[in-house]
Amino acid sequence: MKRLDLVAKELSKRDLAYLVVSNIANVRYLSGFSGSTAWLLASREKTTLITDFRYKEQAEEEVYRGIEIKIDTKEPLGVVCDMAPGLKGKVGFEAGSLTYAAYEKLRSSAGGLTPAEGVVEELRKTKDANEIASISKAAAMADSVFGEIIGEIRGGLSEVDVAARIDFLLRKASSEVPAFKTIVASGAHASLPHATPTRRIIRGGDLVKMDYGAIWDGYCSDMTRTVVMGKASDKVKMVYGIVLEAQERAIAGIRPGAACREIDKIARDHIEAEGYGENFGHGLGHGVGLEIHEGPRLSKKSDEALKAGNVVTVEPGIYIPGWGGIRIEDMVVVTEDGCDVLTSAVKRLVEVGA
Ligand code: ZN
Ligand code: ZN
Repeated sequence: MKRLDLVAKELSKRDLAYLVVSNIANVRYLSGFSGSTAWLLASREKTTLITDFRYKEQAEEEVYRGIEIKIDTKEPLGVVCDMAPGLKGKVGFEAGSLTYAAYEKLRSSAGGLTPAEGVVEELRKTKDANEIASISKAAAMADSVFGEIIGEIRGGLSEVDVAARIDFLLRKASSEVPAFKTIVASGAHASLPHATPTRRIIRGGDLVKMDYGAIWDGYCSDMTRTVVMGKASDKVKMVYGIVLEAQERAIAGIRPGAACREIDKIARDHIEAEGYGENFGHGLGHGVGLEIHEGPRLSKKSDEALKAGNVVTVEPGIYIPGWGGIRIEDMVVVTEDGCDVLTSAVKRLVEVGA
């Protein structure tokens, strides 16, 4: 199996005999198991999935051939601790996802416990055709929800009302759950990049920023659109135009080999040149897959270059305290010679409830 072969190769490279996989997204990626409780114990020769009775039937159905399934009444940590004295050589663990308490327990039974960061996460950055198909489907579901919600927003609704309606429409479109807590922020509240929806009533002239995503076959989508309630003011039109131009310029720069830092810079330079540099304080984008935020990151701190098969968001924003905020977010997949935009919801400034 290709993914496990790549893990085995990485284990050799890092001089590890085993890897304890406790991050559930990594478990799913390597084994196909979609339940919520399982660990993998992977060696260069053999991989065991450890879960409990609740998932027996599901594991037998889903887990890729060649992986041993171990059903136990104990939680996976306890099972690995029982197995640990028999393990020879260094045992890698996922330092980014194992709790300190679990680490302490594991350390008391496994000798040679070694942090092994990013073994699976690195593989997950490059999506295969099936993964891209699932992400595209999740993106299309979110697009269709946008088409519906812009016809429903009207004066008198609160942010919570709109968020609840988006979540309902996502579920109706067959999204397993929303990919993350849906953001709806209106008026001055929209200046918070990651606002939680409130009971604030949406009024004429308000910006309404909506950031949400769907999940299909475990894979997430992520999109943001900012609309205006009623007629857009000249300032709204102007700021929206700057954000959109920044986003389109950045997308035009995405291709294999492009430095993540440079793509971030394309958008940032444009926003800065227009005088809003201080109002764009977050990175330009992030990878999306089994988790809503994964690698690679489009950020000025990144040292990575893009590769074909990466799926990233491109989401510049301008946030002005007391006034509001505008963000436009699409997902793109890096292709052999550029990128394909996976989000197809309308991108011109939409006036709703008018
Ligand atoms: Zn988003
Ligand atoms: Zn995002």
